[in-house]
Amino acid sequence: MSDVNPIKIRPGRHELPAPISLAPARRKRRPALARALALSAAGLISAMLAFGLHTAVTPAPAALCYPNVQSQGGTLELRYYDNTQADRLSCEFSGREYPLYQTAEGEFRVLLPVKLHAKPLMYNAIVRKTTLFGKKVSARVAVVVKRGEYPHVQITLKPQRGQSKKDREASLASARKIVLDTLAAATPKQRWEGRFIFPLRGRISAPFGERRTVNKRPGGVHFGTDIGAPQGTDVVAANTGVVALTADFPLQGKMLLLDHGQGMFTAYFHMSEILAAEGQTLHKGQLLGKTGNTGRSTGPHLHWGAYVFGVPVNPLEWVERSF
Ligand SMILES: [Zn+2]
Repeated sequence: MSDVNPIKIRPGRHELPAPISLAPARRKRRPALARALALSAAGLISAMLAFGLHTAVTPAPAALCYPNVQSQGGTLELRYYDNTQADRLSCEFSGREYPLYQTAEGEFRVLLPVKLHAKPLMYNAIVRKTTLFGKKVSARVAVVVKRGEYPHVQITLKPQRGQSKKDREASLASARKIVLDTLAAATPKQRWEGRFIFPLRGRISAPFGERRTVNKRPGGVHFGTDIGAPQGTDVVAANTGVVALTADFPLQGKMLLLDHGQGMFTAYFHMSEILAAEGQTLHKGQLLGKTGNTGRSTGPHLHWGAYVFGVPVNPLEWVERSF
């Protein structure tokens, strides 16, 4: 006999794993609002991925303006950086809308004019982008406009003869319209290269922005830089561009407008000869005419003008800075 009791297995509850169910587990239903939000977020993310709007991983769009303090009659360079897609980009500055031109992947630029008559204030340049989701403000940058230091002079001009005042005013207005229409037609391709050069050597006889009293009456503002030189001196293209207009008008005389692209133009007035044709591409430094005394002029000189989207700006700044 043995003291050892045989092992007795008592009947009891055995902890067996629960049987694996092949039926789908029933989840707790989320409230309707949470479900709607989750669905719309998923939809938005898939739409963003589909349209390349990787906003979660790319830096926010940004705009910079150089300089951010500029004189009346100056030129501003606005740059905008954005790696996301847009159907259209535009920039609003001083009550006017301008296009933006792409310079590299994700980089855009526009040159903006500060009008001679712009009030010395702080302005906002606002970049707006249009996408599938509508048009919205994408970036803004502050610009301070300061007063330009421009002289005031008295000028005496001989009264004009041969035409009645009414006829003279009508021909001035029609010439002005042709010039303004040409300057307003911005072409997207950048044709200028680096800094602009003076179109001839000579003494500056009247600066840009000079306020004039002509024959004791308000004579307006000088929208160019006058460079005095003997009759027949070579005038060359200040930068590469396409000849947009050649004409002989009562005020401007024999004149030429050169389109450098992206709203930038230079103007050459009062010449004795025009040596280039409309539609011709001129390279920086290429001969385009000879100085003269045509139109409303008091002696042989070149009136050299610079325009951004039809607004006259100081051409000397284009010689000093490269855009
Ligand atoms: Zn002039």
